[in-house]
Amino acid sequence: MARGGGKPRHIPIRTCVACRQTSAKRALVRIVRDPEGNVGVDLTGKRPGRGAYLCPGKNCWDLALRRGTLDHALKTAVSAADRERLRAHSEQFPETAPDLT
Ligand SMILES: [Zn+2]
Repeated sequence: MARGGGKPRHIPIRTCVACRQTSAKRALVRIVRDPEGNVGVDLTGKRPGRGAYLCPGKNCWDLALRRGTLDHALKTAVSAADRERLRAHSEQFPETAPDLT
C-alpha cells in the first residue's frame, strides 16, 4: 500500500444542544459550567467543567436559553446574570448559523 497520501485527520464532532445538528467542534461555541457553578462562553475550548455546544446562530441561543435546554445540558440552573451574558454574546451571530458542513 502506498504511503505518504493524506493521513486521515481526526475531526471532533459535537452536537448543538438546541437544534441537535452535528458540526465540527471548532465550528460550534462551547458553553461551560465551571466548578463554581458559573456558566459562560468558553472561547478557548479548554476550560474545565461541564460543557455544552451551540451553533453560532441567535436562534439556537434563544432556544437554549428560553427552553431551559442549556440548563438541562449543563445540569444546572443558569443564573439570570449568566443568561444575560450569553444573550449578549449571541448578539454578534446571524439569526441562523451559516451552513457549517
Ligand atoms: Zn444549533
